[in-house]
Amino acid sequence: MTATRVVVLGSGFAGLETAFLLRSLLDHDQVELTVVSDRSDFLFKPNTIYLPFGGDEHRLHIPLSAPLARRHITHRVTHVDGIDADRGLVHTTRVLPIHYDRLVIATGATMHPEEVPGLAEHAHQIWTPRQMRALGDELQWVAAHAAHGRPQRVLFLVPPNNKCAGPLYEIAFMLDTWLRRKDVRHQVDITFTTYEDRYIQAFGPRLHQVVEHEFAHRDIDGHTGVEVTKVTDTHVAYTDGTDREFDLLIAFPPYVASVRYDGLPADDRGFLTCHPATRQVVAHPEIFAPGDAGDFPVKQAFLAFLQADAVANTIAAQILGTGPRAGFEPVSMCVMEMFDKATFAQVPLTLTGRPGAPVAVDQFNLGAYRVGTSKIWRLGKKTLGLYLPMRFRRGLPFHAGAPWRAMETGLHAGARWLAT
Ligand SMILES: Cc1cc2nc3c(=O)[nH]c(=O)nc-3n(C[C@H](O)[C@H](O)[C@H](O)COP(=O)(O)OP(=O)(O)OC[C@H]3O[C@@H](n4cnc5c(N)ncnc54)[C@H](O)[C@@H]3O)c2cc1C
Repeated sequence: MTATRVVVLGSGFAGLETAFLLRSLLDHDQVELTVVSDRSDFLFKPNTIYLPFGGDEHRLHIPLSAPLARRHITHRVTHVDGIDADRGLVHTTRVLPIHYDRLVIATGATMHPEEVPGLAEHAHQIWTPRQMRALGDELQWVAAHAAHGRPQRVLFLVPPNNKCAGPLYEIAFMLDTWLRRKDVRHQVDITFTTYEDRYIQAFGPRLHQVVEHEFAHRDIDGHTGVEVTKVTDTHVAYTDGTDREFDLLIAFPPYVASVRYDGLPADDRGFLTCHPATRQVVAHPEIFAPGDAGDFPVKQAFLAFLQADAVANTIAAQILGTGPRAGFEPVSMCVMEMFDKATFAQVPLTLTGRPGAPVAVDQFNLGAYRVGTSKIWRLGKKTLGLYLPMRFRRGLPFHAGAPWRAMETGLHAGARWLAT
């Protein structure tokens, strides 16, 4: 039997989970695995939220050469330019193209602040570790001015087409706690504005209520349904005619696909059109797009893992000639950090087909919808932050084996006791 050539583009959550799970399901004489990525490490993005507050960046980078080699996965560090789907080729900045029998496109998303006038120039963003460190410098200034009795205005902004606003809420809550601990919170006005009709709309009414309660409790001035039109060095203007002044603006810009793949079906932002359960690209059964690169409207690491698992299982079933395996079921899980406590949410999602609200809480699976706030959930966040890098360092998938079953049992038990 000749090994099937599976090429995975991207070494983020979706790419590595697909590669490591496939390797756990199939030997190297059954599948020849190659990961192509423009970076030599894995970046644990969710924990970059700690960087503005002095967190250590070093531990967020996991070098990949050893784990990939251990699992007999070839690693090509190069920039993907595009693919030729008719000939089964990936084009990179290297001279020779890479041949595939199955292709997994997991090149994720990137920010596109340019679509809001002035946003790129005047807002601090939270996408890369460098931006997080730069934000940290600004927050030190805010705290220093406040300590000298000079009031400060910090404005948070979620513009349309942002696909995962949760981390911006985390930074707002963490900032509130951080300033309180420095005893300067009374000198800083914090305002949060979002284009969505509800806070973190995709995750339903319970998360909205948590945010509303926390904003009131923390004296954060929150506004929903306000859409930005323009940003200057001192003001944000909104479609309803209002205008807000700031000393520091922190925004999470609109999302677009990292790479546009000519010839593959995609939406206007470049996200690849996929079959919902298998994440196969429509009309291309040999190509898959798990994670942020695909068209699932909520961009989240936990959902990227679930999609990658469905992809690895589907490819393994195709190679082994066995029947279809379980597909992607979008049940999101996240822990929202606040420094003094955290909120856990487990949200079963369903696609609505409505552009303004493309996902909603699945009314047929309400038993799985759980939200709770507690100091103990901070421990959950820390445990995930240790568990995932440990798995990837060993070349093992996140969602597999006894360690994951133990984690899952803990999360489900926690969800029963500490969330309703
Ligand atoms: C600050 C922040 C906090 C977050 N917190 C959470 C959280 O708490 N929980 C959660 O579930 N999600 C969180 N997310 C979202 C989560 O990080 C993303 O949904 C997740 O990274 C998506 O995984 P992915 O593998 O699809 O894409 P990525 O992780 O972005 O990986 C894409 C990969 O493709 C590579 N690549 C891109 N372009 C090219 C190219 N042209 N050539 C070669 N390689 C390329 C990249 O180098 C990378 O290796 C957070 C995001 C941010 C920014």
